[in-house]
Amino acid sequence: MSVSYGTFLPDALETCAHLDAIRPVKPHSKGCEDCLKIGDTWVHLRLCMTCGHVGCCDASKNKHATKHFHATNHPIMRSFEPGETWGWCYIDQVTLEFE
Ligand SMILES: [Zn+2]
Ligand SMILES: [Zn+2]
Ligand SMILES: [Zn+2]
Repeated sequence: MSVSYGTFLPDALETCAHLDAIRPVKPHSKGCEDCLKIGDTWVHLRLCMTCGHVGCCDASKNKHATKHFHATNHPIMRSFEPGETWGWCYIDQVTLEFE
């Protein structure tokens, strides 16, 4: 499998059935696009691996990454923080490892 944001450790393949939702996405923005629209701030950023939506984490008051999952059913995000390689499947509730 080749994706622009990395490859998976073998055990991720066994625990998440949604890896085909991962596309070679381009991040839409450098910050949470929904917070930017309303002039709000965030704590950490998450990147949707299906469409490239950039949203804020659950420690942020607006939780736009989780809201994006509920609105679109895009199951997989990864951390958009520099140096962080983990991702998350909202449906299986498992951590994924990207390179
Ligand atoms: Zn999954
Ligand atoms: Zn946000
Ligand atoms: Zn998305």
